[in-house]
Amino acid sequence: MGESILSIIYIIGAVTFIMGLKMMSNPASARRGNIVAGIGMLAAILGTIFLFRNSDGSPLKNHIWIFGGIATGTVIGVLAAKRIKMTAMPEMVSLFNGLGGASATLISVVEFTHLAELGFPPDQATPGILAILFSGVILGNITFSGSLIAWGKLSGKVKDFSFKGQHIINIILLLTSIGLSVYIGANLYSGDTMLLFYGLFFLTIVYGVFFVMPIGGADMPVVISLLNSLSGLSAACGGFLYDNKVVFTGGILVGAAGTILTVLMCKAMNRSLTNVLIGSFGGGSTAVGSKQQGSYKEITLNDSAVVMSFANKVMIVPGYGLAVAQAQHTCHELQKMLEAKGVEVKYAIHPVAGRMPGHMNVLLAEADVSYDKLIEMEQANEEFPSVDVVLILGANDVVNPAAKTDPSSPIYGMPILDVGLSKNVIVNKRSMKPGYAGIENDLFFQPKTSMLFGDAKKVLQDLISEIKNL
Ligand code: NDP
Repeated sequence: MGESILSIIYIIGAVTFIMGLKMMSNPASARRGNIVAGIGMLAAILGTIFLFRNSDGSPLKNHIWIFGGIATGTVIGVLAAKRIKMTAMPEMVSLFNGLGGASATLISVVEFTHLAELGFPPDQATPGILAILFSGVILGNITFSGSLIAWGKLSGKVKDFSFKGQHIINIILLLTSIGLSVYIGANLYSGDTMLLFYGLFFLTIVYGVFFVMPIGGADMPVVISLLNSLSGLSAACGGFLYDNKVVFTGGILVGAAGTILTVLMCKAMNRSLTNVLIGSFGGGSTAVGSKQQGSYKEITLNDSAVVMSFANKVMIVPGYGLAVAQAQHTCHELQKMLEAKGVEVKYAIHPVAGRMPGHMNVLLAEADVSYDKLIEMEQANEEFPSVDVVLILGANDVVNPAAKTDPSSPIYGMPILDVGLSKNVIVNKRSMKPGYAGIENDLFFQPKTSMLFGDAKKVLQDLISEIKNL
């Protein structure tokens, strides 16, 4: 009876994951989607704790340990999520991905050790089970160590590191790990099995580090979503192992969603997936443009207010700086004020603007900016020739023409917002410092461009006052 109820709870859990994911595809229902999936997860966890029966019919024991773990994780998770700033969200996602990978590895380690203690009985240590165990270690460890490095890089604690021939070493490490798994599986009773298994553990940790270490600058979003999909796949291995449908479904959903996002990100960054998979793509946050840039011109708040108020069409390009300044509400206010003056206002959204996929969409949705005001990069590039003023708010790499014109640039090949096609460009940032990729931006020195220095929120507030006084 209990088993049947548990199966029904698992099906409900799996359905809520799918429903939640579907709801997350729209900003209006995303929050509810998260809650729906969370309720499904809670039901699956409680159902497992109280209704699961071992093969001998006994219930789960160690309730104090289980609830102790859940309570500790809940407190840490809630505090971390409440304290984290929106701009640091990718760092937290990286850490959570890493912990997911570590959990999958631990499941494999525990189960492999258990099989070793039983002397690898052939009916339990089947090739299928071993393949899942080794996949759990490989995927889980790459996710764990790779995500820790990604977290370090995003928070500026770890610098890019690469050496000549690293791609080759990476491929050798990965192939050796796979080869070692096959060898262990084929020589289970040799006596060195546990030692070799720990060797595999170590190799995959090193591969994860080497895999993410050289990736820098503008390529980070791809690796974050790839690690996200790996964390899902490693969790799915755990679901397979325990024949637990809800863990399997959850893992596969994360894996599939992460893979789709990786492909979309690759497209947005103009990188091939193969390039990402072998961890060979370069770039670096320390790279700095070497060209002499000439001089730039500044624009006053009053002139900016005049140019925008008398424009027919203004395109706002939001970037990371807008999120740092938390100026999304003030930006929406400016939009409404310009619209009241008969100006058409839209937002051009670059797929990797900010620090996480969809960052700008989330940020602007938070300020109730209507979704139909947001246009994607391809459409924005078609519209720029008819735009009188582009107002860039804390964006830099995503409007850097070097991506199109300078083959030596780390962001060369990345599609950008072609703001130079418009009639005037006003750039708001605090200084001439580079953006995330660490490279100079030629746009700031072009004749059509004027710099409006200052914190985005303060500048927008002052612009609003100026427009009011016109
Ligand atoms: P960038 O990081 O290129 O530039 C942001 C700019 O904002 C900086 O040049 C900075 O200049 C300015 N800025 C910072 N604080 C403020 C403030 N308070 N007010 C006004 N301006 C401010 O951002 P983009 O959005 O253009 O590009 C995103 C970059 O991040 C890309 O390289 C992308 O690849 C990368 N990335 C994206 C991820 C994603 O998933 N979206 C994940 C990880 C990385 P100054 O200091 O002079 O003010």
